[in-house]
Amino acid sequence: MAERSQTAPEAGNDIGNEDVIGGNVSKYVVLPNGYSGQPKKGHLTFDACFESGNLGRVEQVCEFEYDLFIRPDTCNPRFRVWFNFTVENVKESQRVIFNIVNFSKTKSLYRDGMAPMVKSTSRPKWQRLPPKNVYYYRCPDHRKNYVMSFAFCFDREDDIYQFAYCYPYTYTRFQHYLDSLQKRNMDYFFREQLGQSVQQRQLDLLTITSPENLREGTEKKVIFITGRVHPGETPSSFVCQGIIDFLVSQHPIARVLREHLVFKIAPMLNPDGVYLGNYRCSLMGFDLNRHWLDPSPWAHPTLHGVKQLIIKMYNDPKTSLEFYIDIHAHSTMMNGFMYGNIFEDEERFQRQSIFPKLLCQNAEDFSYTSTSFNRDAVKAGTGRRFLGGLLDHTSYCYTLEVSFYSYIIGGTTAAVPYTEEAYMKLGRNVARTFLDYYRLNSLVERMTVPMPRLRKETPTPYKHPSLRGSASNVPNSKGDKKSSLNHKDSSAPF
Ligand SMILES: [Zn+2]
Repeated sequence: MAERSQTAPEAGNDIGNEDVIGGNVSKYVVLPNGYSGQPKKGHLTFDACFESGNLGRVEQVCEFEYDLFIRPDTCNPRFRVWFNFTVENVKESQRVIFNIVNFSKTKSLYRDGMAPMVKSTSRPKWQRLPPKNVYYYRCPDHRKNYVMSFAFCFDREDDIYQFAYCYPYTYTRFQHYLDSLQKRNMDYFFREQLGQSVQQRQLDLLTITSPENLREGTEKKVIFITGRVHPGETPSSFVCQGIIDFLVSQHPIARVLREHLVFKIAPMLNPDGVYLGNYRCSLMGFDLNRHWLDPSPWAHPTLHGVKQLIIKMYNDPKTSLEFYIDIHAHSTMMNGFMYGNIFEDEERFQRQSIFPKLLCQNAEDFSYTSTSFNRDAVKAGTGRRFLGGLLDHTSYCYTLEVSFYSYIIGGTTAAVPYTEEAYMKLGRNVARTFLDYYRLNSLVERMTVPMPRLRKETPTPYKHPSLRGSASNVPNSKGDKKSSLNHKDSSAPF
């Protein structure tokens, strides 16, 4: 999530004086105490030495039970949330309990029914574990840290099982996706390398617009979108891919948008962090979304590159930077929602609420009620806050958040767990909402595409948006979800 203070929630769970966890486990075989022979079937082998992998240590508690330690972000031990590891050498019908014992956060959607993801070699589609097998509690054996325990039964001896915090989305997957788009030779899709990360990975910048809009001297209305500044927030990449897929499609709305607007998208601002399996930080341990005020070309090169480009566009009289949206995922809230800025100018403030209101009409999982506006000092270094202060009164800057877990459809209390497809659908709905916005603002006239359908959580136009800290911005604001969860995937075969 973008918007947590650096100190409060992350300081909740203490890392204590345990041995420092230096790296990921690598084909680590857990042998019973006192056993010195060759590993047998059922002596579990843990591995996290792969892209976006994360597991720092394994300790066997008893025959069935294992304590698992998340490897902290590189150069920043305060962040321990993302995990992603494999287990093999299992016995058929082997039952285990895994305890993830060193989360750095205390609040979690595990309390509301979230469950870890699992897949295996013979069932390669990610699924959420049944929530009835997942427990989240304060544990006296681990200095009262919050521990997430889950029970699991391995069912196929030859399978390699993989467990993760949320659907992984790696740097390599992202590169393959962009390669496949480039191969389509679309004359309205451009990919360039805006810079490189500290470990020399690409900072990709996409431009999606009709080629006529890029001619010298043409006036441009630019929508700037960024994602994955926080590497563990993988839903950000699915939403971003949904936006891109829609914008390059032959959908009539996409064609109109390309005709009138220039989309600049930097989908992966922190490629090193993504590659390394960090949750929040870059290779050097920086939370890049706190360094917009003064990014260093050597310590925060990707952020520096994007900021330079935005400032260049800002100074170009032919370019109007109309929207900046930074996409994140949230570990304690349901739904998609936005954070915006507070302005003294009441009209500007009201105009800023239009886009999230329109998005709420288009996307059943997006909540305007959870959308809030703030100017907290701890968030001054975020993209939204920095650019909100820099850009003029016709520009709008938002953080788009989406839950790691689920959404609640208006008028019901049933939590619907997000799938990869549902995250991408939110992205498509974000893209199509620009048409509604510009139609309202008369840029696009006499449209032949249908008006957006209205849905239950239709916000009242021009009502004052909720302020930060109001009752509408707490996780359980939509009723008592704990008592009424309806998990669509509870029949999963795992
Ligand atoms: Zn974030």
